[in-house]
Amino acid sequence: MTYGNALNFIMMVKVILPKKTNPTILYIMKLEAFPNSNGMNEQEIKQKLTEEEYKVLREKGTEAPFTGKYVNTKDKGMYVCKVCGTELFSSTAKFDSGTGWPSFTEPANLEHVELVEDNSHGMHRTEVKCKKCGSHLGHVFDDLPTGRQAGQDSLGKRYCINSVCLDLKNEA
Ligand SMILES: [Zn+2]
Repeated sequence: MTYGNALNFIMMVKVILPKKTNPTILYIMKLEAFPNSNGMNEQEIKQKLTEEEYKVLREKGTEAPFTGKYVNTKDKGMYVCKVCGTELFSSTAKFDSGTGWPSFTEPANLEHVELVEDNSHGMHRTEVKCKKCGSHLGHVFDDLPTGRQAGQDSLGKRYCINSVCLDLKNEA
């Protein structure tokens, strides 16, 4: 179902349903028409991504360290969500953590990410997700990174993000 179709569908349902229909029912119908907030259902997302990308983004996998294409990238620009294009991390917040994954001191906009407690694999970590589409991005740690650029204002956060979850939009 395309975005336009879904909207038409909701409008149509609203006309058909009695005026007193419980708002919750309308909300559930809306959720079904928009399986995620980007208007793509899981099957469409799966088709858009490679097998590895899907495994990391939608099944909380982790790419092998030092293999991601953005580990050592110093290019300027905005890293956006591979699934929905939401602006996630600016290159200005990127630093060389030596961990083998792209690392950032902060998101481009805190409103664009969701932090979730993650106790899987016998570890206590904080998962970082794209707020818009719910895709897994990586984890955030409170340890101060080594090799951080001098003078950079940081709260000591290290956003450890999988390359496959990101697309770098270079500055024009
Ligand atoms: Zn997203």
